[in-house]
Amino acid sequence: MHLIPLPAFSDNYIWALHDGRKALVVDPGESEGVAAWLAREGLQLDTILITHHHADHTGGVAALREATGARVIGPAYEPMPEPLQRVGAGDEVEVLGLRFAVMEVPGHTAGHIAYYTPDIDGAPLLFCGDTLFSGGCGRLFEGTPAQMLDSLTRLAALPADTRVCCTHEYTLSNLKFAQAVEPDNAALAAYTARCQAQRAQNFPTLPSSIGLEKQINPFLRTGEAAVVQSAQAREPGSPTDAVTVFATLREWKNVFR
Ligand SMILES: [Zn+2]
Ligand SMILES: [Zn+2]
Repeated sequence: MHLIPLPAFSDNYIWALHDGRKALVVDPGESEGVAAWLAREGLQLDTILITHHHADHTGGVAALREATGARVIGPAYEPMPEPLQRVGAGDEVEVLGLRFAVMEVPGHTAGHIAYYTPDIDGAPLLFCGDTLFSGGCGRLFEGTPAQMLDSLTRLAALPADTRVCCTHEYTLSNLKFAQAVEPDNAALAAYTARCQAQRAQNFPTLPSSIGLEKQINPFLRTGEAAVVQSAQAREPGSPTDAVTVFATLREWKNVFR
């Protein structure tokens, strides 16, 4: 099975999986690049998976469905380009012979879902849309900090070697913020240097992994003393519970330059 991030717009990736014959794409915000790739590789589009309703994740769905007859699967509770198969927590979808578990991960949007499969060529894989990014997390457009923290906590509980396929190349700007939160995190410094080298050659920094994110992503580290301390320095006197720390980090990141 081949895993490929197709670049779209300024910083999106449309993740694609194929077995040399049939392909799956996730969150096609546009259709032209995907159609050109399918033609170039001689692949048939079998299935489109959607994580949430934002246009940069759904804009290419109708055209691709029309051109290829691909099946479309998306979240149960979001406005979606019909027709599609709607799925939610506890559902499983079978695509290209793989079984994906559907997780509901509200926060960025109210009905955001993620797709997890425990074994592709020896390692698990997660399509998490705009919920978890490398070094960061999605903005809270439709959810509360408590909801987003709960969603991220469940993603963080996946196996350490889970490949994390996020939709945006936000890694370097996320890491700049992460370093402001945890200036003494050695793993974070090493990872930042590695990502800077990748981006200097225009290579993706993704996929990341759950094990790595737990070491470097402040939004998964709200229980770490250094992270709590930075949140308290930002909001003096604020409580130290995980939800408050998370909310402080998220608001800080919103205005961080
Ligand atoms: Zn989004
Ligand atoms: Zn997006």
